[in-house]
Amino acid sequence: MNIGICLDRHDFLYDIHSLVKSFFPEDEVSIFTADDGEKRAVERDLLIEVDIPLSGDRKGTKDRLKREIYETLSAYTGETLPWGTLSGIRPCKIPMKMLSEGRDRAEILLYMQDHYLVSEEKASLALRVAEREAELLETISPIGDTYSLYINVPFCPSICLYCTFSSSPVSAWSPHIDGYISCVVAEMEEKAAELEREGRGRKPVTAYIGGGTPTALTAEQLERLLSETRRIWDFGGIREFTVEAGRPDSITAEKLSVLLKYGVTRISVNPQTMNDETLRLIGRLHTREDTVRAFRLAREAGFDNINMDMILGLPGEGEAEVRRTLDEITALAPDSLTVHSLAVKRASRLRKTIREDREIDIDADRDSFGGLVFRNSGALMDMSAEAAESMGMKPYYLYRQKNMKGNLENTGFALPGRECLYNIIIMEEVQTIFAFGAGASTKYVYPDGRIERTVSPKDVKTWLERRK
Ligand code: SF4
Repeated sequence: MNIGICLDRHDFLYDIHSLVKSFFPEDEVSIFTADDGEKRAVERDLLIEVDIPLSGDRKGTKDRLKREIYETLSAYTGETLPWGTLSGIRPCKIPMKMLSEGRDRAEILLYMQDHYLVSEEKASLALRVAEREAELLETISPIGDTYSLYINVPFCPSICLYCTFSSSPVSAWSPHIDGYISCVVAEMEEKAAELEREGRGRKPVTAYIGGGTPTALTAEQLERLLSETRRIWDFGGIREFTVEAGRPDSITAEKLSVLLKYGVTRISVNPQTMNDETLRLIGRLHTREDTVRAFRLAREAGFDNINMDMILGLPGEGEAEVRRTLDEITALAPDSLTVHSLAVKRASRLRKTIREDREIDIDADRDSFGGLVFRNSGALMDMSAEAAESMGMKPYYLYRQKNMKGNLENTGFALPGRECLYNIIIMEEVQTIFAFGAGASTKYVYPDGRIERTVSPKDVKTWLERRK
């Protein structure tokens, strides 16, 4: 479908685009103004003309406009969205702010449902998450004076078909990885010296090595990266040190002992699914067996905070497959579980690739794209939440992706005390994060709440050239 929304002036084009995409993630959506003759002349399947209300402040105007468009699209499609008119990726910011203003639960729930048309269930989820976040953030005080670190290792054993992280295959980059580590180390040294000059010191509150797959590095490379990180920064006040091991096929006993030696407190062993056929389809080189082996190895090595990630909406995966994954994860008893929904854009690309590859034959009836993901993803989410809660976990952070039909969310569940502070910090944007490596995004949070970002080039070659 080709959908056009014509506004009478230039404000809010981006916000409206995100909202309309939540109803029509796979369709062409164009938001333009009445004076754009070229776009007005295009023939469309659906054209909505809206006058932006003139009264009130900017935020009030935006909220009213979004509501008007939401109601029009809801009547047209016969659908409602669980997150209502909220199109941003951080819905918990609203209850967080209201909690900090001393508002009570009932008032917050009512406001989210009335003002943003959020469903009762999602309003309650957002509030539960915000309450837990607030509790945990209170333990870092005063948070504005502190900072965290992120180190990006953008290499993986193979590239998953749905990947949007600009990761590169480790085999192709192996001759350059030592050089990459040297550049990351130099970048950290510069920043640490700068912070010392400014009187902010070298003491991060949390540190997170992600990617990519940090354990795609060899044990020696990992040791060098970790030992240099510990040399440069003072971990005296560290609350948590995460290494997102991620891909089970990259985890070895030797690498786990390196992580422990340098004080890593939390790792991820990510199955995404426990079904081998799906793993093959999505381009991950590991099997269910590898996940079980890597998880047990990590437990035996002594890790007492292990996260597992899973994805809903993978090709061919319905209730039975998700149930199997949840049962197997439950049997392993991780300390936290992060449940992702595959965003439609990525799903479309994945589906296209699968369909174009004649060697891969998937049963159309079992193809979840365009069917299951759209109609049942809420039910699969509920099933995952029940499994997490049955393991004693509670939701503690959530975010949404753009272009996700049904407007769903990714949710992190954890046992009490096993939450990842870094995940909360990044979602709620309450603390400065200094980030290092290709594609890393440093976020400065100023005392007045202002936020500034600087992003380094995603392309490893370009980043390395700039660092030299
Ligand atoms: S493991 Fe993650 S970062 Fe690596 S290719 Fe797969 S999706 Fe991308």
